[in-house]
Amino acid sequence: MKKLKVAMSCDDVALDGWSTPKDLETLINYYNKKGFKGTFMVVPVYEDGTYFTKQKEYIAILKDAVMAGHTIGQHGISHDRFEIGVPPQMILDLPNETESKRKVLEEYSSLVAEHTLEKIIKKLEMGKKILEDAFEFEVLGFRAPSLQTSDNMWKAFDIVGYKWDSSCALQPTGWDILNGKKNTPPVDFKIDPIWTSHQNYKTYPLTTDYSWFLPDEDFNLTFSLAKHDIDRCAELDLPFIPVCHVSPINLCPHGNGYKMYDLMIDYMKDNYEIEVNNIGTL
Ligand SMILES: [Zn+2]
Repeated sequence: MKKLKVAMSCDDVALDGWSTPKDLETLINYYNKKGFKGTFMVVPVYEDGTYFTKQKEYIAILKDAVMAGHTIGQHGISHDRFEIGVPPQMILDLPNETESKRKVLEEYSSLVAEHTLEKIIKKLEMGKKILEDAFEFEVLGFRAPSLQTSDNMWKAFDIVGYKWDSSCALQPTGWDILNGKKNTPPVDFKIDPIWTSHQNYKTYPLTTDYSWFLPDEDFNLTFSLAKHDIDRCAELDLPFIPVCHVSPINLCPHGNGYKMYDLMIDYMKDNYEIEVNNIGTL
């Protein structure tokens, strides 16, 4: 049987409106029950400028999770759409992103000019320190919110001291499905040399989100996409890193989020020899 490395990942931990401590615990319990490890991407600062530590429950839950072999990473600073880069078109086309889309159309050059290396380093270091002060261990990984990128972002990661990054997505068709373009075929993604080209860190791209408020009518299509992506990762010897979001996976109608993960896990177990990781152990 061919080997497949798998690292589950979850975004928007502690982000108001998209995460609750209870939903996070449910997800961690699910990973534990299934024998998988999660990488939990935590947002350090709220939009109002206060820190995620305002809800202390998260710290205890995540410290326990790390003891059990899961890990955490930094998910941006306050999850602003433009804090260190600009999101790709597939994100801007999402129904709740009309204001971001307008900004990119009307203010693109000033948005890009904002992203100086100095400013990005300062922001990243601030967010990293907030998490490290709260958890009392080093935070070694990063994922940009909303898949935003800028040239200086890649340089800044090298300087700030992360060991891994997971800011790229392999499978744009996941967002096409969310945007209603349901006839788009899965992309046969390829290895990008940029992932191993940085001095001090390595990039581990996620595939896509298979559990974003997943409705019944998209279930089979999404499962086909997941099987395609699992097979493609195995073919390229890439780790399979699906992303979910704390509350959206819990709020899928009819428990579709966890049903999807049950099927994905069965498919992987039937077809591959699985090596369980978090992103930090890849
Ligand atoms: Zn996010």
